[in-house]
Amino acid sequence: MPKIVPKESPRFSLQLYPWQQADWQQLLQYSNTEKLPHALLITGNKGLAKFEFAMLWAGTLLCETAAKTQWLDSTTIPCGHCAACELFVANTHPDFMLIQPEEEGKAIKVAQIRELVAFVSLTQSRSNRRVIVISPAESMNMNAANSLLKTLEEPPVNTVIILVSSRPHSLPATIRSRCQLFPVSTADSATLQSWLTQIGQYSQDEVDLAVSVTENSPLNAQFYLESSILSLSEALLNDWLLLASGKAKPTAIAEKWLKQPENVPIRLVYTWLVDMIRYHSLNCSSERRLDDNVSRLFYYSSNSALQKLAISIPVKRLFVIYDKVIEILRLGHTSLNKQLQLESLLIQWSLIAQRK
Ligand SMILES: [Zn+2]
Repeated sequence: MPKIVPKESPRFSLQLYPWQQADWQQLLQYSNTEKLPHALLITGNKGLAKFEFAMLWAGTLLCETAAKTQWLDSTTIPCGHCAACELFVANTHPDFMLIQPEEEGKAIKVAQIRELVAFVSLTQSRSNRRVIVISPAESMNMNAANSLLKTLEEPPVNTVIILVSSRPHSLPATIRSRCQLFPVSTADSATLQSWLTQIGQYSQDEVDLAVSVTENSPLNAQFYLESSILSLSEALLNDWLLLASGKAKPTAIAEKWLKQPENVPIRLVYTWLVDMIRYHSLNCSSERRLDDNVSRLFYYSSNSALQKLAISIPVKRLFVIYDKVIEILRLGHTSLNKQLQLESLLIQWSLIAQRK
């Protein structure tokens, strides 16, 4: 039997997330065997649980109960109880193969795709089809992608290959064009807020902040709530204030912040700058002050040191930093050197804040 990588069981549950309901209905329309695409490319932003969605689809394709009901029930998901589901969850189903980088962040190598090629040439041993999940598909190196292309060009019978990618444009166009594209839906704020409130004992402030800094990315928001977003936000804000007073080195703070996944520190900086600009405008232009209740609604952070700092810096200079942050967020994952970019932002902030 081909080796399945990684060796640890993948993290997934045989459940649909609330923001995936409509997508699932759409996917079930393929349940009629004639319509079933031999290669599906599931795309969408990070943190939307695309991998879990792909695994759920793979599990459904193999589930013996789902096969018996001919998927007539529109709520079909793997039953979780039949022998096929048990094998699947234990990552030992003989007709299933999961291909991921052997180490996180590394490439999917051609040797792994060769295992896939060997796998699809075998006779299925249990079910009437084979299912393969490749995630993240853009991790395939050039040789691996070329090798997969040959399989996609001559699709093996009774085989479904599911590719998962947050960056489908990094895949060769020849691969994309041979797959049925399936862009997943994003999570709207209301669905996300209600889900986050159900999965843990989080305060509204924590949920609001997690949703805001992760740009409605459910799994990232969950990660930040589990790792206590409010204290993380406080720690990073403290760094930001230390930079403003010249008590910390921008390069050291940049190194520390780069250990946070995705754009979370930058999103936090964005919220502080919006706060500072609002605070500056309201308090410097007309001497109006907000009462505490309005302030709570109006600001992401009610940190008094940040507000004091906001008044002391000319608003034009706050906008210089704001524009830079917007530029970094706009470039997103296309940015080539995140470290240089972050260092340059923090150096500029430190200079502007100390010049006053
Ligand atoms: Zn089952």
